[in-house]
Amino acid sequence: MNFMSLARDCIFCRIIRGELPSTKVYEDDKVVVFLDIYPINTGHALVVPKVHAEKLEDLPEEYLERLLVVTAKVAPAIVKAVKAEAYNVVINNGRAAGQEIMHVHAHIIPRMTGDGCNIMGCRRFKPSREELERVGEEIRKVLKGEK
Ligand code: AMP
Ligand code: ZN
Repeated sequence: MNFMSLARDCIFCRIIRGELPSTKVYEDDKVVVFLDIYPINTGHALVVPKVHAEKLEDLPEEYLERLLVVTAKVAPAIVKAVKAEAYNVVINNGRAAGQEIMHVHAHIIPRMTGDGCNIMGCRRFKPSREELERVGEEIRKVLKGEK
């Protein structure tokens, strides 16, 4: 691994370098998975790429791919190990979305029926079809580079 791609003062980079303790459950050349020290449920783990990047879009593609592949492999193992029923994968991107550690990571959160956790707990609203189309058109324009 290229240690130059890690940041000196980032907590997760320091865990990757072995300067801070962690409970690792999986590691390869591109990602590491360790347990969250403030879990929502038992087995709550973080999948962390071994390169310092703040958000999903900042990650080199091979790390992005590995992040998802490893998440899909480790999550069911966690569910089995802690006798959960299901899991959420959550990636907070940006402070307004709740990101506290500015090194991209995927949360794997084991879930049980009636565990009282409300991951998608924001209030929702019901836009009209026209409003959905208007927003959709704005997004398509940006994706095409027209905006
Ligand atoms: P986020 O809000 O998505 O940035 O999540 C950061 C997560 O990192 C939180 O769930 C914290 O509990 C967790 N966390 C912070 N410091 C550590 C650490 N030293 N080891 C493991 N997990 C940590
Ligand atoms: Zn970092």
